[in-house]
Amino acid sequence: MKSFKTESKRILDLMINSIYTNKEIFLRELVSNASDAIDKLKFISLTDTSVGSDFKISISVDKENRKLIIEDNGIGMTEKDLEKNLGTIAESGTLAFKKENAGKSDNELIGQFGVGFYSAFMVADKIEVFTKAYGEQNAFKWESAGVEGYTIDPTEKDGYGTKIVISLKADTEDYKYSDFLEEYKISSLIKQYSDYIRYPIQMLMTRSKKKEGSPDDKPEYEQVKELETLNSMVPLWKKQKSEVTDENLKEFYKNEFHDFTDPLKGIYAKIEGAVTYDTLLFIPSRAPYDYYSKDYKKGVKLYCNGVMIMDKCEELIPDYFGFIKGIVDSSDLSLNISREILQQDRQVKAIATSLEKKISSELKKMLETDRENYEKMFAEFGLSIKFGVYAGFGMNKDKLKDFLMFYSSKKEKLVTLSEYVKEMQDGQDAIYYACGESYEKIASLPQIEKAKDKGYEILYFKDGVDEFVAKILMDYEGKKFVSVSEADFSLASDDEKKELEKQAEENKELLTAIKDALGEKVKEIKLTSKLVSYPVCLTAAGDISIEMEKVFNSMPNADGKMKAEKILEISASHKVLDTLKKVYAEDKESLKKYATVLYEQARLLEGLTIDDVTGFVNAISDIM
Ligand code: ADP
Repeated sequence: MKSFKTESKRILDLMINSIYTNKEIFLRELVSNASDAIDKLKFISLTDTSVGSDFKISISVDKENRKLIIEDNGIGMTEKDLEKNLGTIAESGTLAFKKENAGKSDNELIGQFGVGFYSAFMVADKIEVFTKAYGEQNAFKWESAGVEGYTIDPTEKDGYGTKIVISLKADTEDYKYSDFLEEYKISSLIKQYSDYIRYPIQMLMTRSKKKEGSPDDKPEYEQVKELETLNSMVPLWKKQKSEVTDENLKEFYKNEFHDFTDPLKGIYAKIEGAVTYDTLLFIPSRAPYDYYSKDYKKGVKLYCNGVMIMDKCEELIPDYFGFIKGIVDSSDLSLNISREILQQDRQVKAIATSLEKKISSELKKMLETDRENYEKMFAEFGLSIKFGVYAGFGMNKDKLKDFLMFYSSKKEKLVTLSEYVKEMQDGQDAIYYACGESYEKIASLPQIEKAKDKGYEILYFKDGVDEFVAKILMDYEGKKFVSVSEADFSLASDDEKKELEKQAEENKELLTAIKDALGEKVKEIKLTSKLVSYPVCLTAAGDISIEMEKVFNSMPNADGKMKAEKILEISASHKVLDTLKKVYAEDKESLKKYATVLYEQARLLEGLTIDDVTGFVNAISDIM
């Protein structure tokens, strides 16, 4: 017996002991796996005529032994496939699983992993999988009764495909597992969840029939078993728009993309123009656990006249909309299109352009008419759009800028740039922003106080990429982005500026002495009128902001050379200035310690760490 990988074990354990209310969805999962497997073999059958064309999924029951059997004549699995596909789950998600999932409920976890095949353990004591892969001589049997592990052995099997035999759990007070042995139950579940599967899902159904030869006026009936197709097999995207409800779209999405949660939005469209295609597009309500990692593969399912030719066609979706799931079916494509041709194919390019337009217009509509869901979308995938603005030296920024949202100090919620600009104060000529790790930390930046007091709205940039986005956008509707942490940021009136200059002149020697004490750590010491209650702040001159310095230094190959040119600004109206003057007049040596304390304080306020801990501690204790 082989054991499951640790994390698979945990998920399995979760499944087996799950109190998930929707246990019945296991059937949908198995049927859709079967359909995927047939899709793959059907594609091969286009070039290999030895493969038959009688594709189907068969369901049967063995009531006496409490077995439910689901069989397909799809591509099957080799011994290796069995090992890889059914021995491991969430392979790439190991880390994510450990780190991010502490404290989540069963349902959330199950939902997050969309653990298709394993969901059968919600209803099974034991699962046997008999399978023979296309092109192979040997068949194999995989068997498992749960967390203990699984076995794989050679077996006999006619034809390609996979047969899954589920031994149902014993009924309990809470759950009647034997329902899954009933014809009516199975057929209604198939109708509910798998109606659109494009291959016949067949089962022997008991029907009452008039006995042959029995008189019409006195008919006799008998129970006969007839093979019936339980699903309508019409792909949803081939139906008329009037026939497709939101509910249908949701069911289809969950079925097709193995998600347990409804999508935020389902889009149905028939496009005619430069290219003709039918499409169903979905915005998931949650980013997959690996969405922001290299492992994530974007793409939509690509069909040519109802035949699936590619599971994830990445060429059809730009990276920044990589979260979109869906299918595209076009008769303009050639069936034997290969990965290599795909990238240059004119039709594919035309569809990609058209799809992007469609997605953009739907997002725009959502932003205008369904703000709540748009914000949910942005919370999950906004980062993807931000990266899109920044990527490629901003080549797509104009297409994407209106999808951006940032947290507003004034509204205390997300706003778009257009909303910000509309609400700007008279005379305000720039978009103000402030950076930090969290909204709370940004809200307590010293530089922000005055701007807020004066009624300005400030955008809070909390993602590392935000400021890069602002830099690449440069402006929005002619309004430049200005950081409150830029040295030049000032809300001072001309009179205030004059007054400051005067004070700076009077304190020239003091400021020079502080600069001398701090040396290269800062570029300049300034008196400022930007602060209200805080004594100091750090700002940056030049192209690299303090926030950017943090981002650069958190990168794997950071050499610490990317540094902001820091300016220590001391409040001209704070009593700390009087203290400094006094110290400078009485004891020039001590001034160094005061300078150190001020500088390190300012670093802390900016979310930086203390530069020289020993120096800082000594300075404080000396002063005390
Ligand atoms: P998912 O379908 O989301 O990838 P599953 O756990 O349901 O996850 O299945 C894991 C893999 O096992 C599938 O990706 C597929 O390669 C393989 N598999 C499952 N069921 C079948 C089947 N009936 N025929 C062939 N391969 C299958």
